[in-house]
Amino acid sequence: MNEQRQNNSVVMIIDDDASTRMMATEFLSQAGFIVVEAADGLEAMAQVPLVNPDMIILDVEMPNLNGFDTCVQLRKIAAFVSTPILMLTGLDNSESIDLAYEAGATDFATKPINWSLLCYRVRYMLRASQASEMLKKNQMSLAASQRIAQLGNWEYDLLQDRLIWSDQLFQILGLKPGEIEPSHEALVSRVHSDDRSRVEDWINQQAEPGDRASIDHRIVLANGELRSVRQQMECTRNSDGTLVQLQTVVQDFTERREAEEKIHQLAYYDSLTNLPNRAMLQDHLDHCLSIARQNNHKLAVLFLDLDDFKRVNDTLGHAVGDMLLREVANRLQDNLRRGALESSLHDACFDSMVARMGGDEFIILLPSINDVADATSVANRILKVLSHPYTVAENALFTSPSIGISIYPNDGTTAEDLLRNADMAMYSAKRNGKNLYKLHSEAMDAAAQKRYRVDVSLRSALEKNEFSVFYQPQLNLKTGKIFSVEALIRWNSADLGTVSPADFITVAEENGLIVPMGEWVLRTSCEQTKQWIAQGFSINKVAVNISVLQFIRPDFPAMIESILEETGLPARYLELEITESLLANDTYGAVDTLRKLKKIGVELSIDDFGTGYSSLSQLKNFPINRLKIDQSFIQNVTNSKEDAAITNAIIAMSDSMKIKVLAEGVETQEQLDFLRNNGCDEIQGFLISKPLPAADIEANMMSVESLLDKLFAPDLSISLKTGTG
Ligand code: C2E
Ligand code: MG
Ligand code: MG
Repeated sequence: MNEQRQNNSVVMIIDDDASTRMMATEFLSQAGFIVVEAADGLEAMAQVPLVNPDMIILDVEMPNLNGFDTCVQLRKIAAFVSTPILMLTGLDNSESIDLAYEAGATDFATKPINWSLLCYRVRYMLRASQASEMLKKNQMSLAASQRIAQLGNWEYDLLQDRLIWSDQLFQILGLKPGEIEPSHEALVSRVHSDDRSRVEDWINQQAEPGDRASIDHRIVLANGELRSVRQQMECTRNSDGTLVQLQTVVQDFTERREAEEKIHQLAYYDSLTNLPNRAMLQDHLDHCLSIARQNNHKLAVLFLDLDDFKRVNDTLGHAVGDMLLREVANRLQDNLRRGALESSLHDACFDSMVARMGGDEFIILLPSINDVADATSVANRILKVLSHPYTVAENALFTSPSIGISIYPNDGTTAEDLLRNADMAMYSAKRNGKNLYKLHSEAMDAAAQKRYRVDVSLRSALEKNEFSVFYQPQLNLKTGKIFSVEALIRWNSADLGTVSPADFITVAEENGLIVPMGEWVLRTSCEQTKQWIAQGFSINKVAVNISVLQFIRPDFPAMIESILEETGLPARYLELEITESLLANDTYGAVDTLRKLKKIGVELSIDDFGTGYSSLSQLKNFPINRLKIDQSFIQNVTNSKEDAAITNAIIAMSDSMKIKVLAEGVETQEQLDFLRNNGCDEIQGFLISKPLPAADIEANMMSVESLLDKLFAPDLSISLKTGTG
């Protein structure tokens, strides 16, 4: 504390003798103190709350309230409990000195007073009081921060054999401060029995000078509660290296540890089934692979997916779906546990792990198998136990799994490869009829692998914006004008490069993605056509291919209507190309849907006509505008009598039914001539133009039209080159 602060200190002199007060005021003011006077105890008591003195000089013998009683009264006021009080006694005897201390005085001085000495005394007393005040404050804030940080400490002085525990350490141990005598045994007895010898070793081991060593362990409170603590020790040695003191901080980190455990649980376990999740499986698989590599043994990954699980969710709701998944998880775990007990499967099931990858996908990891047969017998058991009926929320349910198996090292040496190959094999199991297992090695020929890759990449293609629409012009042979374009989807996959529709349309139909994809094509091509019309472009129709899967959805006509409304394209500009299979028999209520579509005002055509089983006579029942003769007939129309006859028959029949007929896949001038001579209305094919991006259609249309002008000019010797456009 500094002089400045002292100099501003207020000293109160309480004495009935005016000359003493005067002397005190004189000397103390000169020494820099602010002095306040009171003539007796009563006056002093009235003034202290207002003056709030830092120090009091108090005479003993006074009328009204004497010095001893004044002192006692002052000490009863909280603000003056530790204010330094110097008593002036005229009686130089030990009795009055004792009385002064008993009354609560800090010190005494005897009259007559040596005033210059007294000034030093006052200064010293103030300094001491301020120092102890500061110490008290520091101790209190240390105790508070230790309490907040749940930090206690113990100190062992080896020279004096003295052990001190802080109050907070008592509290960490579930005790009241001072409740028991601190001892090494008392501390160790509270350590969890499993941790005890470790803690004792740690204390005895004692760190190097200046080193800090720490240990984490559990303690058990009297009420049985378990807490986690960390002890950190610092050792002090004297100059010859003898250990003199151990200082140890004890921190209770139970809450943090519990939070960490919760985070771990959330990060590594699936909350629905409590099974390990993908991240945990990945870690564990990596670990098991390194062991398998070292010990040269096999490992199996079983990829399991429930068959038609989506139907359960869709029909009975997600809550029932979740319960079913939990039940499946239980059965899987039980089965592996029992497998581990049975001698026949002991090795395969021992240390196995079941994980949930998300949705209805589970992984079973068999870290050590003798041969493939171990994995297949586990798969067989699983097929059996999962196919027993389930009772979930009073519903009797059945489900079955499809399982794909990959084996280390045969089917892959990394976690990634093994998981992907097991997934591929599962995919093959699904395609082969479900409720069975497939080994990757047996299942995956090149074609299956390709289909699998397409399937996987296709799932994210739409959101990755990998699709585009190309347009192929359609030509009216009577007018020589382009009247329409067919919209054809194109896929440029980041993983697989350009994939042809032949390779992904059927996959999209199998996995259901054709529905959102088809809707996207519809919207894109309607928007494009609307734009062309607005630009005055001489196109008056766009034909869009529709999959059976789209067509049979009850909301299909409504979806068409809303796309037309959204894009602002008048219905007559849109033609839907459907396949013959829809007409073969009316199982899908096709007639009804077609009527609804007609009512909306869109045109309808039958694509790839001639390849299906419908007869021309059946067509009468359907409101169709156009038949598209399949390109396989056109290919040989000039050199196969049969194909020429079929083509002619389709042209003649559609003519009689007043349906337009379009020939697809026209590549040569000869094919064009044949079709024109035989009364075909329209053509489409590489001869006119390949399918092109929208921008190229706009750019090329001029050159196509000028070529057409020449083509349809009276001099027919000018011919088009194959692939023009
Ligand atoms: P499609 O509807 O019969 O379309 C005609 C196919 O023949 C197109 O193949 C087109 O590029 C091709 N082509 C056109 N002119 C010629 C030619 O002169 N010679 C030859 N050899 N081929 C020609 P692409 O684009 O590969 O489409 C194949 C099939 O995929 C389409 O047959 C259609 O069934 C389907 N598809 C294409 N886009 C979609 C779509 O957006 N939705 C649906 N559901 N199916 C689509
Ligand atoms: Mg088509
Ligand atoms: Mg076709």
